[in-house]
Amino acid sequence: MTNLVERDRRRVWHPYAGAEASPLFEVESVSGVKIRLADGRELVDGMSSWWSAIHGYRHPHIEAAVKRQLERLPHVMFGGLTHEPAVRLCERLVERAPTGLERVFLSDSGSVAVEVAIKMALQFWQARGRPERRRLLALRGGYHGDTFGAMAVCDPVTGMHGLFASVLPAHVFAERPARRFGESCGPAELDELTRLVDAHRGELAAVILEPIVQGAGGMWFYSADYLRHLRALCDDAGILLIADEIATGFGRTGRLFACEHAGIAPDILCVGKALTGGTLTLAATLASGEVCRALSSGDPGVFMHGPTFMGNALACAAAHASLDLLDAGAWTGQVAGIERALASGLEPCRALPAVADVRVLGGIGVVELRAPVDMERVEPAFVEQGIWIRPFGRLVYTMPPYVIGEADLTRLTDGICAVVSTLG
Ligand SMILES: *Cc1c(COP(=O)(O)O)cnc(C)c1O
Repeated sequence: MTNLVERDRRRVWHPYAGAEASPLFEVESVSGVKIRLADGRELVDGMSSWWSAIHGYRHPHIEAAVKRQLERLPHVMFGGLTHEPAVRLCERLVERAPTGLERVFLSDSGSVAVEVAIKMALQFWQARGRPERRRLLALRGGYHGDTFGAMAVCDPVTGMHGLFASVLPAHVFAERPARRFGESCGPAELDELTRLVDAHRGELAAVILEPIVQGAGGMWFYSADYLRHLRALCDDAGILLIADEIATGFGRTGRLFACEHAGIAPDILCVGKALTGGTLTLAATLASGEVCRALSSGDPGVFMHGPTFMGNALACAAAHASLDLLDAGAWTGQVAGIERALASGLEPCRALPAVADVRVLGGIGVVELRAPVDMERVEPAFVEQGIWIRPFGRLVYTMPPYVIGEADLTRLTDGICAVVSTLG
């Protein structure tokens, strides 16, 4: 164990970790699709640092943009002041997002973007004189972040937040969509959801979900028809639809936004993670014209939120550079190539005794196991294979940077198959 790991164990918290001696690896540097450890080992990155580093690490275009911005205007408060990087970023997001989204609230992280979305929905109904519409309808298997408002719409069981159930607002939950991505799904598949919308009609502010791909709550890919029917249902019932594209946004599913698979537009859209290409933390909540008008009409006539680091110019510059790279268009072919390589490379896992399911969509590959993995054993085993994979529960999954080459993809899928074959 390196000295740094010992110091870390004494003073530092990691995500969902305590003081126990779970495996921890010191990183020396990152470049392209490689993570170099302090002991000299080099790992092919299978996680894109949780969906974010889509162009690989230290992309020269993003680095140059951040350096230029650093020398001119790294950050300035956003209350009463504005700047070109923020304004232009909001314009570019609106140009690329599903139609009807008109205005952008910038924030620092995905969870906050979800908090903002929920607040917008509640203020929308308050402004309309319907303050009793303050509950949300969410899906089981969903994940929307770790802050209190976001936690309350995560899967109540797998959402990792059971501990706080007694202090969270009680929202309404429907089963996760049953039909897989690529399968068709009739309106009858939404019978339960329709009943819930009817039963809670007077008190529902919005439906919130992750379109097409449920991420950290189960890595489940569902039918695009479901989203189409849901959009129609929200329209009929007059409730808002919030799409959380924090994981799926910016090309991961093969479309720039996952909503495009269904040809629908939400009333409120959350993005984050890949927004800056994984360099700096930034998120955004986009709202429709109708939502914006309501927020500025009713009492208090302003939207009640304002983070200290709102509109951080360095993060905006990184986001511009990431959007430039996406605009260049290579990502569509890259993600299609990753999809093919993951589908064929992970297929051998299907026959393994420990494996319950293998599924691939766009740049995401999932091997669902029958039992939760033992991280103590499995994490070092992946590192031995020269790959960085971070499973949770029964899910071993990968979403590599779009720029990954064929040889590294093979190393990823071979390494996953090798480790999974030692399980169960
Ligand atoms: C990661 C994630 C969040 C939370 O984002 P943070 O930046 O970790 O706060 C919310 N929703 C979805 C779908 C996510 O994948």
